[in-house]
Amino acid sequence: MELAGSDSDGREFTNAAEMWKEQLGESHKKIDWYRNGVGYWQEVDASVDGVLGGYGHITDADIKGSEVFLNSLLSDPLLDKGRSRHLVALDCGSGIGRVTKNLLIRYFNEVDLLEPVPHFLEAARQSLVLEGVTDTDEHRAMNFYCVPLQEFTPDSGRYDVIWVQWCIGHLTDDDFISFFKTAKAGLKPGGFFIVKENTARNGFVLDKQDCSITRSDLYFKELFRRCGLHLYKVKDQKEFPRELFQVKMYALTTEVPKRSRLSRSKQHVNQPSIIK
Ligand code: SAH
Repeated sequence: MELAGSDSDGREFTNAAEMWKEQLGESHKKIDWYRNGVGYWQEVDASVDGVLGGYGHITDADIKGSEVFLNSLLSDPLLDKGRSRHLVALDCGSGIGRVTKNLLIRYFNEVDLLEPVPHFLEAARQSLVLEGVTDTDEHRAMNFYCVPLQEFTPDSGRYDVIWVQWCIGHLTDDDFISFFKTAKAGLKPGGFFIVKENTARNGFVLDKQDCSITRSDLYFKELFRRCGLHLYKVKDQKEFPRELFQVKMYALTTEVPKRSRLSRSKQHVNQPSIIK
């Protein structure tokens, strides 16, 4: 059956399939991309070895590297805009809650977890809340959001830190940019993102199995720029096996942090000045 037609601009189509392909082809592909990405993880064991692709043994080195980086940022006076003592973090693509359990819950009073794969999120809830290992009145895992990053809108001004580790490769460039633009509104003043991800030596590497891409450092920086984010600090993760991608930690702020008047005047104490 031939169904020739046209569009509102008068463009002619020889058949409907041609038109549908043009209108929906891309978004169908995008739906498949995300379905395959989550589908891959749905088949994976809810274990540390599972979420780290068989590299469960690197978790200690990973957490140690993250802790040094996080500490340096939380104690950085340039980033402390009168931060309240009640700290809140968001763990993005949290998997089974490995990062929250081993790191974030010790530093933040509340941690929210976002993870699209239900059995991972359930495992996280199980270990963080039901078993109550790290859950105290002072430090608790609060909200468990079973949504993908590209569909998430945070409560405005809720977070001191938004942690994104080993999951942003699942997002297309457009969704990467709109995620960070949306998530910015979820940061408190002086809040920041930490992105910890594999990096390719150059360009990108597409993984067709789990539908994700590994971007190069340059690629990340270009996307961060397009998000309107300021790259405040970068550090390489050390002590990972040589066969793995280089892992980098990026700290990103919504604006260039300015020196406070106090630290500026401190800088000039060695210059001559008039005694008043
Ligand atoms: N960040 C965790 C888990 C890493 S495994 C850790 O470091 O331990 C990668 C995680 O990304 C999986 O839990 C997977 O379900 C999640 N993921 C896959 N697609 C995603 C998407 N579109 N948005 C958010 N998370 C996603």
